[in-house]
Amino acid sequence: MEVASAAPILLSLDPEALQSWVLASGQPAYRATQIREWIYAKGVRDLEAVTVLPKGWRKAQTATVGRSRLVEKRVAADGTTKLLLALADGERIETVGIPTARRLTVCVSSQVGCPMGCRFCATGKDGLRRSLQHHEMVDQVLSMRDVLQRTPTHVVFMGMGEPLLNTDAVLRSIMSFCRDLGMGQRRMTVSTVGIPGQLQHLNRRANQLLGRCQFTLAVSLHAPNQQLRETLIPTARTYPLARLLQDCQDYVARTGRRVSFEYILLAGINDRACHAEELADRIRGFPSHVNLMAYNPIAEETFQRPTGHSINRFRHVLEQRGVAVSVRASRGLDHDAACGQLRRRSGAAA
Ligand code: SF4
Repeated sequence: MEVASAAPILLSLDPEALQSWVLASGQPAYRATQIREWIYAKGVRDLEAVTVLPKGWRKAQTATVGRSRLVEKRVAADGTTKLLLALADGERIETVGIPTARRLTVCVSSQVGCPMGCRFCATGKDGLRRSLQHHEMVDQVLSMRDVLQRTPTHVVFMGMGEPLLNTDAVLRSIMSFCRDLGMGQRRMTVSTVGIPGQLQHLNRRANQLLGRCQFTLAVSLHAPNQQLRETLIPTARTYPLARLLQDCQDYVARTGRRVSFEYILLAGINDRACHAEELADRIRGFPSHVNLMAYNPIAEETFQRPTGHSINRFRHVLEQRGVAVSVRASRGLDHDAACGQLRRRSGAAA
């Protein structure tokens, strides 16, 4: 059970901790159920707005709900919506909503900035400010629901930050999505570029905190060999590709879940047929799925988007070699599509 501080952040409390705080403040236990309903189902941002609570008691409380402030909203022609949110300490993060006819996927940030420094990523350019608390990830999904007036169906931890540098908070947010928002664990994806030793830790902590590990693990490869991968992901130097793939095999064996391999195609860098052949050789027979994405340009780098022809060729080579593959459609290209661009342009903090 999480312990409530004197002035708690209500969104950060599990049901038991919230009830303890309610009782300690002189209210009956059922008030905790009311507060939970108003925070999660109705989306109130302030305890004052929970009008079923006694007015005098509401006014006397110093607790906050823990919601962020919407700084900027960008909506692309295809409905993809990017939010710039200000946190309680003034830091800013991005959240992206990707609506389709049947789904609303929220791309959640797990850190303010990121220490991994992947060359193709705007977020990595400013380094890490801090990791997010779990309620700050829950807030992103609530914020997208507020803005789009639609219930999110899927969550992908593919926004700012490296989730496996903030594993416990990520898993606690998954717990809240399941318990408080009624989402299924199988509709969530945790994405990593790979941190040595952390896949085993993720599986162990997921079993401890969630009872079982049913979300999808997505591993960002972006290259079929160690030499090329190191040029794109500097931290790959400390985690050889062969070792990463072995850890993925172990993860599959322990969880029974296949792994998604993410691969951003950069024109002339990693998108040739020989790269696809090498990738297929590495992962053939592995219970996995490859997601190909075309690079979204950022101002700081000279990488180019691949042509449609080279994307199709890459996919075709993988398919011919028996690798399950799909191409992720580019969304929201007209508004700062790459992760971290909106935050950088607005200034890092409020
Ligand atoms: Fe960090 Fe992901 Fe960007 Fe790499 S791609 S710098 S891990 S946010």
